[in-house]
Amino acid sequence: MLKRIWVAVAWLCLMGVKAMAEVPDPWTPVTVQRVNGEIRVGVWGREYRFAKQPLPSQITTAGVELLAQPMRLLAFGGKGESAWTQSGCELWDQTDEQAVLLGWQVNDTVIADFVVRLEFDGLMRVDLTLAPLPQPKASLQRLWLEIPLRKERATLFHYWTGRWGSAENSGAVPTDGMGLPFKPIVWLGWEEGGLTWCAESDRNWQVAEREQAIEIVPSENAVVLRVHLLDTPPQKLPLTFTFGMQPTPVKPMPKDFHEWRICHGAFYGMEKQPMTQGAKETTLEKAARMGVKTLVFHEHWTPVQNYWRTNRESELRELIAACHQRGIKLLLYFGYELSTLAPEWSAAAEKVLVKTPTGGFSGGYFRQPPQRDYIVCLNSQWAERLLDGIVSAIERYGFDGVYLDGTIEPFGCANEAHGCGYRTADGKLRETYPIFAVRQFMRRLYEALHPKGKLINAHQSTYCGTPTLAFVHSYWDGEQFGGGELAGDPLQKLPLASFRAEFMGKNFGVPCEFLVYERPPEWTVDHALAFTLLHDVRVRPLGFGAMLEKLAAIWSAMSQFGVSEAEWHPYWRNGEFIQAQPESVKVSGYRRTVNGQVRWLLVVSNLSAKETVTAQVRLSRKAMPKVNEATDALTGERLPITDNTITISLPPMRMSLVAVR
Ligand SMILES: [Zn+2]
Repeated sequence: MLKRIWVAVAWLCLMGVKAMAEVPDPWTPVTVQRVNGEIRVGVWGREYRFAKQPLPSQITTAGVELLAQPMRLLAFGGKGESAWTQSGCELWDQTDEQAVLLGWQVNDTVIADFVVRLEFDGLMRVDLTLAPLPQPKASLQRLWLEIPLRKERATLFHYWTGRWGSAENSGAVPTDGMGLPFKPIVWLGWEEGGLTWCAESDRNWQVAEREQAIEIVPSENAVVLRVHLLDTPPQKLPLTFTFGMQPTPVKPMPKDFHEWRICHGAFYGMEKQPMTQGAKETTLEKAARMGVKTLVFHEHWTPVQNYWRTNRESELRELIAACHQRGIKLLLYFGYELSTLAPEWSAAAEKVLVKTPTGGFSGGYFRQPPQRDYIVCLNSQWAERLLDGIVSAIERYGFDGVYLDGTIEPFGCANEAHGCGYRTADGKLRETYPIFAVRQFMRRLYEALHPKGKLINAHQSTYCGTPTLAFVHSYWDGEQFGGGELAGDPLQKLPLASFRAEFMGKNFGVPCEFLVYERPPEWTVDHALAFTLLHDVRVRPLGFGAMLEKLAAIWSAMSQFGVSEAEWHPYWRNGEFIQAQPESVKVSGYRRTVNGQVRWLLVVSNLSAKETVTAQVRLSRKAMPKVNEATDALTGERLPITDNTITISLPPMRMSLVAVR
């Protein structure tokens, strides 16, 4: 009997594990409740409410409500707005992974049918089909989708595609709003959350003004995201529009991300090669001494770009073993291209590459050994091949995760051979952005790697599309300024609001690092740290020289303080604790209580591009009753204190880390 009970218990546990396993950690199974006639769909950290209609009446994330009014489809007939006289919404299907709702709205011009899929990471996919009424009383003239966000929840924007060399696709929502041509990704939010809207293409849209396909319209209490689906009567019915939404953050920030200590630039033999000629210490030993915990080996680990095998297997195994001996993880490069040197090129290229509407390939990177590498589309059979390749490579070699160069970006593609692109009414081929296919690839990669403790780090400059970004552990952004654009006065080209929107990661729930190609003396890692550290974002060191030494000191000071255990009080909302003078000085702080004593680690930055300043940083009594000691955490220098006010001299575009007790 007892044995039978144990078998039953074991069986239940297994079933439980299996049921849970369908939703990867840290997400939780999708829940559905009915409250006062509403359908409420819950996912980790967020909830959608549907009040007898197929578009959400409210969305909550990060503990707050996003919508100022219910989301709406605005239809116009001949005599102005044509109200929906009938609407409904029903639960169709529910599993741990997703809930599916069916809904409809009818007015005197048209039937609007909705299939709404809500997935465990919060992505809501909507397929909206307009169908003709048997006997319409009026004709549909215009149709807009409107998402009215609460004003304080839509102070920042980000969209993709952006422009290399610029931060124009991220920033503060202008007081008079903005208009955009079609963009596959638009995010509106604030420093701790927001809402992503997405669509793979503008297929079936009829837009009157190309530059106003998507509008961001501030009003007294709301900021409305308006999507111009139809500005003119539909040319045919039925007609389908597909789009998605995703409240952010999409998952909790990992508690230990400050300890990942990622350094870029591993190479074959670094475990044997002396750091400098004649030195006793090898490069790997130096990395270990500097406190590196994660190394990235860029594309040259394999002679074939974005491939999953190397012919230097014994060297790779030796390197991995040497890293593991020192407690260092090794990530290998994967990317976004198919190489002319790949064994599959001749058979696969035409079918799997990204194509432009005129039939050309995209990219064409040139590297050694001589080859050209063209952008590949993950809406093709290559997704399966690459996924299988990565998973089998990890099994074969035992490395610790992947560095994904551009892989999470749904590059615009018009290759009809694998289902990308679409034809306009007059037969013209236009590109589509395969968000859902790249998302599916990323989800499966995450499900294969994350449970094994393997890291997924994405490099994705200008792109923060959460439908795919959700399935990485961290991202590395900033190569769009690789041409030295930030030299001189970095905040001219990259304002703080742009940084908060795209480069901070907390609004998306994914940690970010900043990428810096130095152009000394006008643009160095010191300039960058002056503004990145204010946002709890660090620069990733490239190589094993001065840049690593600089970051190593910061890693060490932050670990010593225990930032992973601390509360973070950034400059835009810490006025009750910290006051700083002059105006060019901004301060963010980490606060911990140790043995009943409050301690702060302050990032004090002079953001003036020209002026050296003597900064006065005053901590309020609420921050800590008495400042006894303030020390430059990197140099050990004691700083003068008068009446809870710390004095620090700061050159232009420099920061100091100040430990206060
Ligand atoms: Zn494609």
